[in-house]
Amino acid sequence: MPEAPLPSPSTVAEPEHVDVLIVGAGISGIGAAYHLRQQCPDRSFVILEAQETFGGTWWTHKYPGIRSDSDLHTFGYRFKPWVGPPIATADEIRKYMGEVIEENGLGPRIRYGHRISHARWSGGDNLWTVEATRTDTGETRRFTCGFLFMCQGYYRHEQGYTPDWPGMDRFKGIIVHPQTWPENLDYRGKQVVVIGSGATAATVVPAMAGVAAHVTMLQRTPTYFRTGRNAIEIAEELRALGIDETWVHEITRRKILAEQARFTERTFREPDRVRDELIGNIRSLLGPDYDVETHFTPPYRPWRQRLAFVPDADLFQGIAKGQASVVTDEIEAFDETGIRLKSGRHLDADIIVTATGFDLCALGDIAFEIDGRPLDFHETVTYRGMMFTGVPNMAWVFGYFRASWTLRSDLVADFVCRLLKHMRATQKRRVEVALRPEDRDMPLLDWIDADNFNPGYMMRGMHLLPRRGDKPEWQHTQDYWAEKDEFPAIDLSGAEFVYR
Ligand SMILES: Cc1cc2nc3c(=O)[nH]c(=O)nc-3n(C[C@H](O)[C@H](O)[C@H](O)COP(=O)(O)OP(=O)(O)OC[C@H]3O[C@@H](n4cnc5c(N)ncnc54)[C@H](O)[C@@H]3O)c2cc1C
Repeated sequence: MPEAPLPSPSTVAEPEHVDVLIVGAGISGIGAAYHLRQQCPDRSFVILEAQETFGGTWWTHKYPGIRSDSDLHTFGYRFKPWVGPPIATADEIRKYMGEVIEENGLGPRIRYGHRISHARWSGGDNLWTVEATRTDTGETRRFTCGFLFMCQGYYRHEQGYTPDWPGMDRFKGIIVHPQTWPENLDYRGKQVVVIGSGATAATVVPAMAGVAAHVTMLQRTPTYFRTGRNAIEIAEELRALGIDETWVHEITRRKILAEQARFTERTFREPDRVRDELIGNIRSLLGPDYDVETHFTPPYRPWRQRLAFVPDADLFQGIAKGQASVVTDEIEAFDETGIRLKSGRHLDADIIVTATGFDLCALGDIAFEIDGRPLDFHETVTYRGMMFTGVPNMAWVFGYFRASWTLRSDLVADFVCRLLKHMRATQKRRVEVALRPEDRDMPLLDWIDADNFNPGYMMRGMHLLPRRGDKPEWQHTQDYWAEKDEFPAIDLSGAEFVYR
């Protein structure tokens, strides 16, 4: 089938029309474009991206050491082998995404510097009208589309989340959030305090240790860490045998996913044993005299928050060498020279890095309207974490917490392509999900079960997110191992899909 032509922005009168409009050129949006091109080659599409280039998360974050905490065999797309070390830098991930764009001719489909502010659904003509502001000229551009593919991630890219501590304005040094890292920040020979102990802190601390005079990781609550060599044995063995990279990718993915499934299952079945293993590993890295009990023994079950992988145990090497240290305490206030802690201790600092997380932002700060009525996303119920009751012709990619995000972006894109083909075959222009009669009495709950997974940014933003039911169809189950089989088998004629 001939590929749908792309209208040239300079020659079309506004609004410009496409079949599918993809929001965001991060790993999900580029993947969505690839799948549309492969599976629905007759559909026209465009990607609108607010930033000046592709990458999303991997362009926004520029702090020292920025790297993935998932392996790239599973964080990479299923269709393009990852040939580098499993834990990758932001530059390596962007290079990989750039190759996907280049190899598939996706470049002309991406409009950078287009920040979408409004999306209005009109049931009269079954179209979305999307309004974007060009970040270079301030000009407003309008697009219409039959389907909106939301690949805008889950947090505000412009700035991260920083709590408001007393006395912050008194501090004479520099306060930096990792998400907005200044280009030329000189931390050589400086006293640095990094607030936080998640994956970002675990990256930035070893990257600054040895260059700064000293780096202190200040945490309120310890985190679980896993460590290991930045290599995957089976991939090395297969490569040594001269196996084709396509096979290496597939086999390595399957092995990693099988091991992750076993590990996740164990964190529920025998949490104490897993906890002992994780903590035992840290103890072996830091030696018998280190106070692992205070600094590396979290009060919750493993996997209730994201479990960070530390390649080559570099965080712990920095601590063992005395270049970095950990303080577990609470902040009383900032003052001119650093941070006063609740214990009475004072941490001197020239630079304070607030690795305190994200600002959750549902739907990219876009004001949505459905037939003239503002959409309150929290009033919708999610269909498998990708469609929403009362919101026609729209899907969202929200990845996994306990497995790589991209595993789900591939699955959701397959689903959307199948749905678009189904609509064309049945000559429908509108699809919406709706609760079935048997779902009407279903309890409606928060987007995620805080007992299962409860990172701060999610807890702070729960009121912004759709609700879920208590059946797998009406929630984001976070279970890749079930969804990989369930998604391709979804019956698109099922009663939960309402077409017109
Ligand atoms: C530092 C860091 C490390 C991470 N490491 C991992 C990891 O190792 N493994 C893992 O699975 N997950 C990781 N994550 C989670 C990560 O965000 C996702 O895995 C993934 O990169 C998200 O991709 P995305 O394309 O869905 O969204 P994003 O990367 O957030 O990209 C969304 C894009 O949409 C654009 N956009 C948003 N709103 C609008 C709008 N209104 N108009 C136009 N454009 C808009 C944004 O500018 C952005 O470019 C990490 C997150 C962070 C912050």
